Amino acid sequence: MTTESCGVEEQRVASLASLIGGKARIRGWLYVKNTVGKLVFLRIRDSTGVVQVVVKKDRVGEQVFDQVKKLRRESSLMVEGLVRRDARAPGGFELQAEAVRVMSPSLEDPPLRRNMSPEAVWRYRHLFIRSRTMNTVLKLRSSLSTMLRQWLLDHGYYEVSAPSIVTAATEGGAKMFEVKYFDNKAFLTQSSQFYLEGAIFSLEKVFCFQPSFRAEESKTRRHLSEYWHLEVEACHMDFNQLLQFEEDMLTDVVRRFYEKHREDVERFNPSFKPFEKPFKRITYTQAVELLTNSGVEIEWGRDLGVREEKIIATRIGQPVFVTHYPKETRAFYHMPDPGDPRVVLAADLLVWPYGEITGGGQRIDDYNVLTNRILESGYNPEDYAWYLDLRKYGSVPHSGFGLGFERLLAHILRLPSIKYAVPYPRTQTIVYP
Ligand code: ATP
Ligand code: MN
Repeated sequence: MTTESCGVEEQRVASLASLIGGKARIRGWLYVKNTVGKLVFLRIRDSTGVVQVVVKKDRVGEQVFDQVKKLRRESSLMVEGLVRRDARAPGGFELQAEAVRVMSPSLEDPPLRRNMSPEAVWRYRHLFIRSRTMNTVLKLRSSLSTMLRQWLLDHGYYEVSAPSIVTAATEGGAKMFEVKYFDNKAFLTQSSQFYLEGAIFSLEKVFCFQPSFRAEESKTRRHLSEYWHLEVEACHMDFNQLLQFEEDMLTDVVRRFYEKHREDVERFNPSFKPFEKPFKRITYTQAVELLTNSGVEIEWGRDLGVREEKIIATRIGQPVFVTHYPKETRAFYHMPDPGDPRVVLAADLLVWPYGEITGGGQRIDDYNVLTNRILESGYNPEDYAWYLDLRKYGSVPHSGFGLGFERLLAHILRLPSIKYAVPYPRTQTIVYP
């Protein structure tokens, strides 16, 4: 190959269309092969796209031709040739091979086919991510996370890191993974909120984007046991400012994402509409009234489940903030509403079918109030000593929220499950590969 390739530049598949009439060299993987008499048609994919390559015996020589004829899918190849217009080829052009080098032939037929069973999709995840669908999802995932980060950086936020190994629960201990930590036990973090709260006293506005772990026993389309959690925390931000902030961030980022990737987004989700401001808002108490009027029995004080969230999101429209939840339904650190201490300044943002995509609220900033809430919730304030310290030394009003990154992506693309929004999902039943 080296001799033949003198002077021919290596290209990505996506740039071949602009090189019609010229020569190019590509490297990729065999996607589809068809033999028609003395011609072999290869579809070769790289990260950017798929191109048809036509291989003729008299151009590449008998030995290479025979080797190509036997190739299995996913073999890795280098091809050099002429980019030619051809109306029959997908995209209107093809690469006429002048030299082919098999870098590594697949040793067996890969276990990838159309309409794979869900079990096979997860079992062969390491191979399935080579599919064109997953290639696009992963590119969109990379782009969306970059846009969210960039939006926050542009708004004066610093990205910080928080530990994955922790000693205390933020959302209730039942869903935590325990890890053996030398001679002690520790947990995988459910949320980095407390650590972000600590960081605002240095940086004022912070976020982190990293995995949270939940030992979710339910098998739903919206729960992973390891998911990417975008968490934001800011000082001097009250509850109303928080809702405004979430609304601004989500409408801006989702609109930009949609504008940049319109074709891909519409291929996945033809009816997608960017979020519009203002988001609808409904208090928990109003939600209970709406549910009761819709014939759903729900006692005031009980948390909303999937069925209730569905009714709210579809009746009120979406996205919708549900606010002012009863304090028993939320973790101890939520600020009681000064107007009605039975409820707290917390809000979940609901969409359908992915349910809650963000959860957040204003945090208690008073030392004594927080201590009492810890006791009332049946915990030991000593276990939260460092968290209480944040209220001991120069406390300030502050708020924050957490966004389930895969839920947002799965919602925009209308993926059948959140498991498709992540390269290697982790659930109660999937931990390999
Ligand atoms: P849910 O009630 O839907 O299980 P939650 O109330 O436990 O969610 P939070 O603790 O508020 O969730 O977490 C913040 C955000 O993280 C949620 O709004 C959601 O978008 C996302 N999230 C929570 N649990 C999971 C999970 N198991 N897999 C993926 N995303 C999740
Ligand atoms: Mn929540």
